[in-house]
Amino acid sequence: RKRVIHVSTGSKALDVILGGGICSMSLTEAYGEFRCGKTQMAHTMCVVAQLPREMGGAEGKAAYIDTEGTFRPDRIRAIAERFGVDPEQALENIIVARAYNSEHQYELIQKVEQSCAEEKGVYKLLVVDSIMALFRVDYSGRGELSERQQKLNIMLARLARLSEQFNVAVFLTNQVQADPGASMMFAAADKKPVGGHILAHASATRIFLRKGRGEERVAKLLDSPDMAEKEASYQITEGGISD
Ligand code: ATP
Ligand code: MG
Repeated sequence: RKRVIHVSTGSKALDVILGGGICSMSLTEAYGEFRCGKTQMAHTMCVVAQLPREMGGAEGKAAYIDTEGTFRPDRIRAIAERFGVDPEQALENIIVARAYNSEHQYELIQKVEQSCAEEKGVYKLLVVDSIMALFRVDYSGRGELSERQQKLNIMLARLARLSEQFNVAVFLTNQVQADPGASMMFAAADKKPVGGHILAHASATRIFLRKGRGEERVAKLLDSPDMAEKEASYQITEGGISD
């Protein structure tokens, strides 16, 4: 029987509220406004996933599906240095693919599935940064929402299956809805993830990220099956996400 593995986020405080980091065998979604650190967190975990277990890692490789063109090898190198691992080796252990539309995104997920099947036990983390961006472009018309949600549902089912079958942690980033009606004062509390109930249902763990004072960032755990709704603050540093 497979056991759930955890991958550290780079922040000990955030790991604590998550129960040790993000879990394999289910989907974790981090959503929040631009610059709150979703992509930096994804980069950090791609390095951490490679580390020994006592360092919060899973001793495996990572796959990164980049839908926004924001994967940066230089960030991986800098994060690798922080953890004392060879930067080029760290990069080699991450397979990166850029997705250009939602169908392509689906094909890339199938490719990752193939890689997991061919190299059993090698991949421990799959990142999709971001899960909804291309769907929002491809199905932008009002009448296209139900088709979008249907396609999204199929993709999420595939991701969930992959996470269970190959004991992989799946980390999805997501955007928030623009809320033109909200006042400045209540804006932070009003942020809702896009993707509707289909995504809400598929994400076993949801983390809401927001900007705090100055450089501070705050993560709030929501909807976890077994952990309380708690907050943790974290920072974005040259070496990735940290306390
Ligand atoms: P978006 O919704 O636009 O994709 P995001 O949540 O993915 O946003 P990130 O790109 O992860 O946001 O984070 C951007 C933040 O990370 C910025 O505040 C930036 O200053 C910070 N950042 C990026 N690189 C570094 C670095 N090398 N050192 C410190 N902070 C950094
Ligand atoms: Mg980003």
